[in-house]
Amino acid sequence: MEKQKAIAKAEKVLYKVYNRFPVVFDSGKGVRLYDTDGGEYLDFGAGIAVMGLGYDYPGFNDAVKAQIDKVFHLSNLFYNEPSIEAGEKLLQVSGMEKVFFTNSGTEAIEGALKIAKRYAYNKGMGTDYEIIAMKRSFHGRSLGALSVTGNDHYQIPFAPLIPNIRFADFNDLDSVKALWSDKTCAVIMETIQGEGGIYPAKEEFIKGVRELCDQSDALLILDEIQCGMGRSGSMFAWQGYGVKPDVMTAAKALGNGVPIGAFLAAGKAASAMEPGDHGATYGGNPLVCAAACKVLDIFEQDHIVEHVNEIGAYLWKKLDELTEKYDFITDHRGKGLIQGLEFTLPVGPIVTNALLEQKLVLISAGANIIRFVPPLVIHEADVDEMVKRLEAAITAVVK
Ligand SMILES: *Cc1c(COP(=O)(O)O)cnc(C)c1O
Repeated sequence: MEKQKAIAKAEKVLYKVYNRFPVVFDSGKGVRLYDTDGGEYLDFGAGIAVMGLGYDYPGFNDAVKAQIDKVFHLSNLFYNEPSIEAGEKLLQVSGMEKVFFTNSGTEAIEGALKIAKRYAYNKGMGTDYEIIAMKRSFHGRSLGALSVTGNDHYQIPFAPLIPNIRFADFNDLDSVKALWSDKTCAVIMETIQGEGGIYPAKEEFIKGVRELCDQSDALLILDEIQCGMGRSGSMFAWQGYGVKPDVMTAAKALGNGVPIGAFLAAGKAASAMEPGDHGATYGGNPLVCAAACKVLDIFEQDHIVEHVNEIGAYLWKKLDELTEKYDFITDHRGKGLIQGLEFTLPVGPIVTNALLEQKLVLISAGANIIRFVPPLVIHEADVDEMVKRLEAAITAVVK
């Protein structure tokens, strides 16, 4: 289909909740995307931190195809081997004890919140407990996940949401303490805030929250949907902090584009829910679990996390140079391959120019922040090429 026709048709049929860029991609290879006009793009967005292994990683597509030819779906009324294997591997790399597979990130958050509620209910806290979440956070679009997303713009039109959610300032332990009460049953946060602008948790903050939770038998829920799966330079970002959550969530890069998420629990949280308390018709079906299995195998065999540490350091150095060079870049944050540059001006025009003129896919995180969440398999030459194209876009826009 001709591009303009495709775009016009899309605007006619697809529910208008996104402002899309005028590009129609139709294939990918490695860390490159190709549009329907044959243009080749360098991808530093990875489908919003999903394509950790990039496109057509050796062996990945074949593993998914092989499962398609066996069986895609069976329901959770029966056992299936890919889900057992994917579960075993995920518990092994996370050190958690139980896993439930979901279809998306937001559903993983729903499950995590249900564990917190069920745990409090089991203790006889009734249903009057409170959950502390963070300002500037993002946990998803379903009503439960939206309830703990600290963003008025997303929340207000959909009120009333789940009651008894209190919002603290991320990285400010006193603000968490100020909200604490004998009704507090859980704290939920991203280990590295993604959508909110790439803010890693400070070590003393996350450790302090862990301690508060331990003192009052509340659950610590860490959302690793964006920063997990190796992106921070640890398999899960919390592993780099020396704390362990009671419940954690994963999704995005877990299936490398095949829609799968998970919530995982350890210790007292691992047995809070009972048969009948939760379910998902598609959740953990053989197709998506075969994909997750292959992703986890590739991570291990090809030392993906080690690679993130090396290439993440290189990206850090290059972005630091940009921060030095341009007055209007005021901050550089992040870890591994989840980094952000904060500008004094809106980055929309830069990101748009990069895409349309420089054939570089970059995404923002808030109005003034460019977010770098490339496939984990990029090399130094890709970073160099990205920086060259980004600088060209910057100089074209900022005059
Ligand atoms: C993307 C994201 C979600 C929501 O995941 P979906 O798959 O879009 O539902 C939740 N939490 C974080 C931190 C995310 O980045």
